[in-house]
Amino acid sequence: MEINGKTALVTGGGSGLGLAMAESYAQKGARVIIVDINQEGLNAAADKIKSAGGEVTAIHCNVAVEDEVEKMVSQAAATYDGIDIAVLCAGILRDGLLIKVDRETKKPVKKMSLQQWQSVIDVNLTGVFLTGREVAWQMVQQGRGGVIIPISSVSKAGNFGQTNYSAAKAGVASMTVVWSKELSRYKIRVAGIAPGFIATPMVIKDMKPEALEKWEKQIPIGRLGRPEEIAQTAVYLAECDLVTGVVVEPTGGARI
Ligand code: NAD
Repeated sequence: MEINGKTALVTGGGSGLGLAMAESYAQKGARVIIVDINQEGLNAAADKIKSAGGEVTAIHCNVAVEDEVEKMVSQAAATYDGIDIAVLCAGILRDGLLIKVDRETKKPVKKMSLQQWQSVIDVNLTGVFLTGREVAWQMVQQGRGGVIIPISSVSKAGNFGQTNYSAAKAGVASMTVVWSKELSRYKIRVAGIAPGFIATPMVIKDMKPEALEKWEKQIPIGRLGRPEEIAQTAVYLAECDLVTGVVVEPTGGARI
């Protein structure tokens, strides 16, 4: 697909990887719609894209709420001329052990709460499901195909302390393959990205420093990834018409 002149919707576009991908699409001549729950982040991201000469619209939406997603995708499609590329990137972390055990007494002392589990499933799995479903509906109605790019994670393989996040990201990788099979006949490609550890606000602010340091040592290239490197991957997935039904892993060689 030629990106220039197309419309790209990016959820989680107010920060980190979503913003980097939106900026790259805008630089390639796409009209960009950024979607986020954080209004302040959205405004700052829209200003950044505009000041670089990009065409951008910002829409406030909680991707975990069905009627908000339905309205957001209709509004996005009406803003320019439909939707050609959709990156499903909004996500959160709420890390913790399934069961925390006291070292001395060897007794279990804390559980991962249902709320801790459910909040991550709601945004990272249900949010991707709802946005992917609404975008697919819109793209089929448009009748000109498109590309859907769900954002998974290297943690889909099962990362220590991430029962909720790993389960959601494995679900996202699985939905990517299902959707590619179901939507190919409508010329819609679905190809995901499972980034390794990338230097974004989510990682720098939300991860424990000792976990971050341990991770950096384990990455074969010896450093965290950069948001621009994930944006490069998103550009490639949009442009290459042969790619569908896969989840690409830009991780610097990191494995869980
Ligand atoms: P980030 O925190 O910088 O950005 C996430 C964005 O999603 C934020 O702007 C946030 O406001 C938005 N968001 C959160 N909940 C939302 C909701 N309910 N509705 C709408 N927007 C919501 O994080 P990031 O590092 O850029 O992560 C982006 C995506 O990439 C996430 O799905 C994350 O799981 C995934 N990922 C990140 C890394 C990494 O190392 N940074 C690695 C693998 C996967």
